Amino acid sequence: MDSNPQRMDCLMFRALVPGASTALCPRAPRASNYPGAAVRFPLPASRRSGLCCKAASDDDAATRAPGLETISAQITPVIDKFFVSDVQGDPDKPMEGFSQISEAIEAIGEGKYVVLVDGKDTGHLVMAASLITPQDAHFFVKAGSGLMYCPMSPKLLDRLRIQLMVREHGENEPTPEQAQTVSVDAKLGTTTGVSSQDRANTILALASPDSRSEHFRKPGHIYPIRTHRDGVLYRLGFAEAAMDLVTLAGLPSVAVTTHLAVQGLPELSKFAAQRGFPFIKVADLGRYMKKREKLVERTAVARLPTKWGDFKAYSYKSKLNSIEHVAYVKGDIGDGQDVLVRVHSECLTGDILGSLRCPCRDSLAHAMQRIESAGRGVLVYLRGHEGMRVGLAEKLSAYSMMDGGESIVEETAVDSRDYGIGAQILRDIGVRTMRLMTNNPAKFLGLRGYGLAVTSRIPVSRGSS
Ligand SMILES: [Zn+2]
Repeated sequence: MDSNPQRMDCLMFRALVPGASTALCPRAPRASNYPGAAVRFPLPASRRSGLCCKAASDDDAATRAPGLETISAQITPVIDKFFVSDVQGDPDKPMEGFSQISEAIEAIGEGKYVVLVDGKDTGHLVMAASLITPQDAHFFVKAGSGLMYCPMSPKLLDRLRIQLMVREHGENEPTPEQAQTVSVDAKLGTTTGVSSQDRANTILALASPDSRSEHFRKPGHIYPIRTHRDGVLYRLGFAEAAMDLVTLAGLPSVAVTTHLAVQGLPELSKFAAQRGFPFIKVADLGRYMKKREKLVERTAVARLPTKWGDFKAYSYKSKLNSIEHVAYVKGDIGDGQDVLVRVHSECLTGDILGSLRCPCRDSLAHAMQRIESAGRGVLVYLRGHEGMRVGLAEKLSAYSMMDGGESIVEETAVDSRDYGIGAQILRDIGVRTMRLMTNNPAKFLGLRGYGLAVTSRIPVSRGSS
């Protein structure tokens, strides 16, 4: 089971009850060119979005029917969400009432405690396994459920031959509920394994690079948890977060956690504040990591003559989901200043198959022409959104419903893993500041976290081709 609440699929279409107010589809600049353009928007403005990928950003103001500006301005196209790390813009800004992630990492590195809140608002006490003392073990048992867990990397668990307790998940990844291993006690330096001294010794043995599988007795009193190797980048779970915090502090990737007896956000916050423990949220750590981790890998580069001119094509592979993206680069990016940039999100029906439901194909052509005539620029083509997350079938079903006279609306929630992909590709190519081709008036604060800035915004009009 995926515990990451933000990892819902990208787009969801749904039918609406008749009788809501009707407006023309803002992503269809000319209703006559784009059949089925009548769309109703009964949702709050902040949740409205048009049909079909990022085409709203391609709205040509000149061709837009009068009266549509307001609606269009309220629409945040999917494309620009690749640039903002969260609603606040700054990926390092914690949610209200929580501590900075950097503060938590520092505390962990000093052998101190952190209160970590997961997606279900459950509180966990966390520290580094390699720094535990019997006094710490005593505090953990007293403050928590009595059980002490050690989230660890799969590599370490494999080395110590500590198996999962439930092994019926076959080839699949174990779910967070299945990730608990058989309990262990260290053979050396322990008696019953129950005392604070014994527990601390077992935990230190788990974190020691010199430990071997024969050094542990099973079952015991410490419960290792097998985390996903990609940590919170893969799953926003408390175990992954605890392991990442310890790793970020530069210590062996073994954490100690316990479910705190105190529960409920206000009580947890009070518990942490009274003792001076950093109080952090797993989701905040996820954003912190996404900003810093390399999410894409450059896989190949080739010269690519196109009908618009000569480009260099760079292929990239997402480390999170293996989707391949491509960037077309024109000319010499040099110092990376003031580069003309367009980020285009894949639209199979429009880009390749000539659909007139959206202006994607024309806007793509227009961007390529514009970059070619500027002699320097980058077009990033992000793939896998229509085909995988949105789903081609959902898109076609939505069209079909529109033709049947039903009004539809699209709800957008970009997969959080995609934040930063476009930004990291641009950064890898050498872009630092850009003239961004978009019609979206959104602010691009989140870019700063990636070492990028937008110097100006260039409206995109539909191409003449
Ligand atoms: Zn399209």
